[in-house]
Amino acid sequence: MDRNTSNSSSAPPRRQQPWSPATASEEEMAFFAKQERTDDLAWTIYREAQRPGGPEFLSDEFFHNVFNNIYGGNPPMSTEKMNELAKGARERVMNKRGTKGKSPSTSGSTVRGSSGSQSTTAVSEALRSVHLETEYVTDARKLDHDDSTILITTIPSPPDGFDKDPDGHCQWVVRGPTRAKVINTPGYPSPVPKPEENKVTIMQTQAITQRNMGLGVVATKDIQMGELIFAERPMLMTPRAVVRLASQGGPKSRDKKSSLRMALIEWEKLLQEAVDRMEPLDRSLVLRLPNSHRNDGSGMILGAVRTNGFAVEEIFDGPEKKSDESNIYAALLRYGSMINHNCVPNIRYEFSVASVSFQFYAMVDIKAGQELFYSFCETNVSAAERRKKLAPYGITCHCDACEHATKQTDKLRQEYQSKTSRLLRALNWQRREGKKVAQTAIDPIIKLKDALAKEGLGYTHEYKCIVVILAQVLEELGKDDLAKEYKEEGEKYNVSKEKLVKYSF
Ligand SMILES: [Zn+2]
Repeated sequence: MDRNTSNSSSAPPRRQQPWSPATASEEEMAFFAKQERTDDLAWTIYREAQRPGGPEFLSDEFFHNVFNNIYGGNPPMSTEKMNELAKGARERVMNKRGTKGKSPSTSGSTVRGSSGSQSTTAVSEALRSVHLETEYVTDARKLDHDDSTILITTIPSPPDGFDKDPDGHCQWVVRGPTRAKVINTPGYPSPVPKPEENKVTIMQTQAITQRNMGLGVVATKDIQMGELIFAERPMLMTPRAVVRLASQGGPKSRDKKSSLRMALIEWEKLLQEAVDRMEPLDRSLVLRLPNSHRNDGSGMILGAVRTNGFAVEEIFDGPEKKSDESNIYAALLRYGSMINHNCVPNIRYEFSVASVSFQFYAMVDIKAGQELFYSFCETNVSAAERRKKLAPYGITCHCDACEHATKQTDKLRQEYQSKTSRLLRALNWQRREGKKVAQTAIDPIIKLKDALAKEGLGYTHEYKCIVVILAQVLEELGKDDLAKEYKEEGEKYNVSKEKLVKYSF
């Protein structure tokens, strides 16, 4: 979900892109069970249990106890009980593996012994390579943590006396120097710049549209283009490139796949610690977020981050943001993460470091009762391309643009940016040369403007520039009636001179 910070591009900001790691294996479970590493075992098993169907060797009792153990359910499980259950799980895992691909009679201790020891070696090697050095921040004033330290902290840090910040707190998994950078930002910690009144609510989309997309964010008031709709401090922030960070902890493992799996487990534990620090309401919000990464080895929280996270490009590890954006952060939001996708988005967002918060703005007028939409992928690509990019989020988009996509609309989306630039530059060239601008130079621009509006791209920078420039040129040509119409529309857009310069205007 790489988003554009500049407003110069018409593509709305994208959420962070997922990647595809491997799946957890029974071998891992067996390994943890054998080592009596019950926490690790619980994690792995819990993650496995989330897969469709869930492995049949997990008893209900085990599953529920694991769940309670992880999420502090009632009553919490004793270590003895956990060990006993883990032992049972191990037996089942081993038996299951023993019978796989063998004759039904080959089960029990012989098979268990041989294949068990092999996998144990591979996994333990991988494990050593991904151990993370983590630390809780006990002194909020300490800023000189070294680069290799990953902190689990709260931002803004609660001041002495544990007063709560009225705008809420964010739980943060962060590298030491990156935390120092944010805390040293001029103005930090400033209040969240938010609108005076609340203009949105979270509700079932079924109530407002035939296409049920689960929960969504809906306007409760009429909102004007450009208006700040809502602002919020995230619940959780984490480095975006989990795998890279997690695998820096030690010598490289020869078994990359296992290493990745282990990294994901380690990372999930870290995120869980951050989630454990949350207020109960935030915690339950995080755990209820949709997760389209149930089968790729991501834990529940990492899955939620990958499905619902927003890229925070303004916060990155090291001196500068990398071009592949692998050193930036990702955030889960209370409202923002509930916003659904549409290839015709109506909002954009900005992130403010000093207040550690997101601001969401309307790109078009939004009426009370309308849903807010954001595009999780680029919008200047064909419908097929969008489908491909949305698949990892578990989304099949049924927006108007996707439902009515044709060769022409695909072409329009792929080409409108270059076409706008070409047509407007040619128009201005005629103007500068002192020639009377020909109607033949204006017509294709009007045609492009109408096509953009029809495709739902009226929110784009290109569309808005076309309207403003047309108003100016038509006025120069003395076509006052038409000019007036465009001028009125253009005034709403608040297009800056700098943006028009791009077209030499
Ligand atoms: Zn769509």
